[in-house]
Amino acid sequence: MADALMFKTVMEFEYGVPRQLAPGVVRLVANNPSPFTFKGTNTYLIGTDTLAVIDPGPRDPAHCAAIVRAAAGRPITHILVTHTHRDHVDGLPDLLAATGAVTAGYGSYELTSTVAARTGPGGESAHTDRTWKPDFELRDGSVLAGDSWAVTAIHTPGHTPDHLSFALHPTHADTRVLFPGDHVMAWNTSVVAPPEGRMADYLASLETLMARDDTVAFPGHGGQYETPARVAKAYLIHRRMRDTAILDCIKGGASSVPAIVAQIYRGLDERLVPAASMSVLAHLEHQLERGLISVSAPLSQTSDLRAV
Ligand SMILES: [Zn+2]
Repeated sequence: MADALMFKTVMEFEYGVPRQLAPGVVRLVANNPSPFTFKGTNTYLIGTDTLAVIDPGPRDPAHCAAIVRAAAGRPITHILVTHTHRDHVDGLPDLLAATGAVTAGYGSYELTSTVAARTGPGGESAHTDRTWKPDFELRDGSVLAGDSWAVTAIHTPGHTPDHLSFALHPTHADTRVLFPGDHVMAWNTSVVAPPEGRMADYLASLETLMARDDTVAFPGHGGQYETPARVAKAYLIHRRMRDTAILDCIKGGASSVPAIVAQIYRGLDERLVPAASMSVLAHLEHQLERGLISVSAPLSQTSDLRAV
């Protein structure tokens, strides 16, 4: 396809073994590989004397023990959460019990999506823990610091409404580290799935990263990548082309989500069809907001679509 992206699918790691990626940055990969999590969820330890953890990962005693082991006796004082997808936060209770740390993240949020894709009692999907309340509620620009580390939170909604990226305050002049969570990863595009995922927010959050000058990113899944602003721009172009392709499908007579998925994602792994369908829905919601299409309301997988 003309809008094919170059994905980085090589990743050097070993489950349970900490890997130093930069001064004051260590990564552990949780053993929860899947088509959505790649090799597994990345957990980062930042700092030198006292430590913060970014994303506890899934509930897995071996992963929790590996985090504590990687701290090597240094206190873990803070646990930061990029977003409340379960593969990032289900390990939180065990890690709290093991460390006594305080927690920080966005906290509760309202769903703004109009897409009728709701499965939970509050409209959420089963992938999200919306009951979580951090000790410190972070917003865009919030600064959090320990003895040997500090980060600034960057609100990057789109993958989820509560999604935060973290910029590590530099310890070396030429290295500006970003933890973009699941917002921008190098191994694959981020899932933008309503009702938590919202395309308009996601695109705006790509522009947020494009305006920054971070030198390296350590994402929620997969290996690190350089020049995050350039990667964000490539993904923005990709999404705009995808948006045009979907609109062209509708103009060509495709009037349902399955019909569009069949045309856009030829040869897709069957396991990924539901995710692709949600991604198309996210694009459709964005097109509806811009008045480019009309649907048999409310927008859902079975809506009858028309170009305006
Ligand atoms: Zn996620």
